[in-house]
Amino acid sequence: MKPNNNLLEIPNINSKDAKLNKLIYVVDDSIFNKDNYSKENFEHLCVCSGGTTSSCAKNGFTTLDLRKNYSKIHLDKESNLVTIGGGVIMGDLINHLQKYNRSFPIGLSKLPGAGYILTGGVSPLSRAYGLAIDNIESIKGFLGNGTFISLKKNQINSKKQLIWEAIKGAAPFFSIITEIELKTIKSNPIKVIEGFVNLNELSEIIKLSEEFPENISLQWIYAQKIYIYIFAEIKNDLEDKKTEKYLMLLDKFPALEKNFYENFNKINFFPKELNLYELNTNYHSEVISLLGEDLKNNIPSFIKCLNEIMKSKPNNSCYVASQQLGYKTKKLNHGSSFFVHRKSTWKPWIYASWKKNNLQEKEVALNWIYQSWNKLKSFYPNIHLAQLHNHLNSHEEELTLAFGNRINELKTLKNIFDPHGILPPL
Ligand SMILES: Cc1cc2nc3c(=O)[nH]c(=O)nc-3n(C[C@H](O)[C@H](O)[C@H](O)COP(=O)(O)OP(=O)(O)OC[C@H]3O[C@@H](n4cnc5c(N)ncnc54)[C@H](O)[C@@H]3O)c2cc1C
Repeated sequence: MKPNNNLLEIPNINSKDAKLNKLIYVVDDSIFNKDNYSKENFEHLCVCSGGTTSSCAKNGFTTLDLRKNYSKIHLDKESNLVTIGGGVIMGDLINHLQKYNRSFPIGLSKLPGAGYILTGGVSPLSRAYGLAIDNIESIKGFLGNGTFISLKKNQINSKKQLIWEAIKGAAPFFSIITEIELKTIKSNPIKVIEGFVNLNELSEIIKLSEEFPENISLQWIYAQKIYIYIFAEIKNDLEDKKTEKYLMLLDKFPALEKNFYENFNKINFFPKELNLYELNTNYHSEVISLLGEDLKNNIPSFIKCLNEIMKSKPNNSCYVASQQLGYKTKKLNHGSSFFVHRKSTWKPWIYASWKKNNLQEKEVALNWIYQSWNKLKSFYPNIHLAQLHNHLNSHEEELTLAFGNRINELKTLKNIFDPHGILPPL
């Protein structure tokens, strides 16, 4: 934290540059006082965990920074359940777990915090272990009206059932989660096939990937060039042999390399050569995440659409990427949640940035995001609300496409448990 000013030292540059009204570190009664927020300015409390989104700090708003006082990680070695504070980042979580040969299905970056878990959490391991929310055992925290809550899976009475379901996917709208208990998994070695490919090769690889078993997933990113990762968890020799049959199909792509990693922690996605702008302090950015099912026969038309999108990008920061889910994320045996688009097998995201303070560039970049989103809607009609965009015009539509037929239940919860709109608006 920088001394003597109200700035946050966090990965997201928009939020890092925000001139805060106040920075607070503890959840106590005073933050639930509605008089602290100006309704004329739609002011609400921003919550910061990993600080990777543009909504954890805003000019003139108060931020609750959970990183200082809600950062504990404790693994119970008998149950293999890990308890983390609401301000823990995913890199620290898997580093801690690795000491005990355990792991957790974190996403493609170690930077995100509890927001990753609470908004769903799509991991390269999700096809085998479900979404991050599917691995929540219990939570503690506060509702927007200041009421303390403590909920444990399989011990939830009917009155609390809806809160429990909504915590899994929509928590930021009505609660502040200070503690999460999670299932962990055994840490296994990972094979990764990675490298640059062209559009035709990407098309072929997407086709192959839609037949992958649950321990293999594809992630790709189209920035200046296209980079792919095929991620395969190896649990035992038998699985290794089965996996090799699929990985051999990739031998025909000469630029791809096969790498072996002792565990998930050792992998860093997105090589430097991609020159991504995410951490570039001169740029502000936004990202929107979509959801859809297998492309099947639509792969050629999707590739054509992707090509058009990339040809129209206004600057070199813009990219489209995608990660694969499916298998266990389709199953409902973890209980109902507010991640409603369970049929989804792809989560693409669209990213654009602009020189900060250049409003014209900002408008152009956001327009490109919206136009690209429109083009991709026929393939990926739904939204993964991994980033809250209540400061953007797309917020309403994103909410509808993220929560589908559960949006009214969420609004009801918000009205009851955050009646003064202290937390981010719906
Ligand atoms: C480089 C990168 C890679 C990513 N890869 C993936 C991926 O593979 N899979 C995936 O699913 N997502 C991925 N994401 C998206 C990321 O998981 C989400 O944007 C997530 O919401 C970020 O959480 P955070 O805690 O870091 O962010 P923050 O900005 O700190 O918080 C995001 C929002 O969540 C709310 N929030 C955070 N913590 C709490 C809490 N404890 N209680 C209540 N509300 C809270 C806040 O209101 C805030 O608005 C990635 C993001 C980045 C930057």
